[in-house]
Amino acid sequence: MDNVAWSCLGCNGYKSNKVQGRDPETGEIVPLFHRQVWLDHFAWSVDGTHVIGLTPTGRATIRILRLNRNGLINLRRVLLIAGVHPG
Ligand SMILES: [Zn+2]
Repeated sequence: MDNVAWSCLGCNGYKSNKVQGRDPETGEIVPLFHRQVWLDHFAWSVDGTHVIGLTPTGRATIRILRLNRNGLINLRRVLLIAGVHPG
C-alpha cells in the first residue's frame, strides 16, 4: 500500500510496480515521484504541452510513465484551448 497513488490507466500501466527509474540525464537510478510536491520536481513547457523534469526524480518519472507521450500532449492541447490547463 506504500506504492499506491492516483493516476490514469495509461500512466498506471507504465508505472506498474516500479518505485525507481533511471534519470535520463545522469543515468542514475533514483526513486520515482511519490507523494511529494509536484512543483519541486516538474514544470510545464512554455507552451504547456510537455512536462519538464527539474530533478532526477522528475526526469525518471517522466521517462518511466511516458508523461510526454503523444496522447497526453494532444490531450493537453485540447485542455489548453478549453482554458483548463495548466490547472
Ligand atoms: Zn496519466
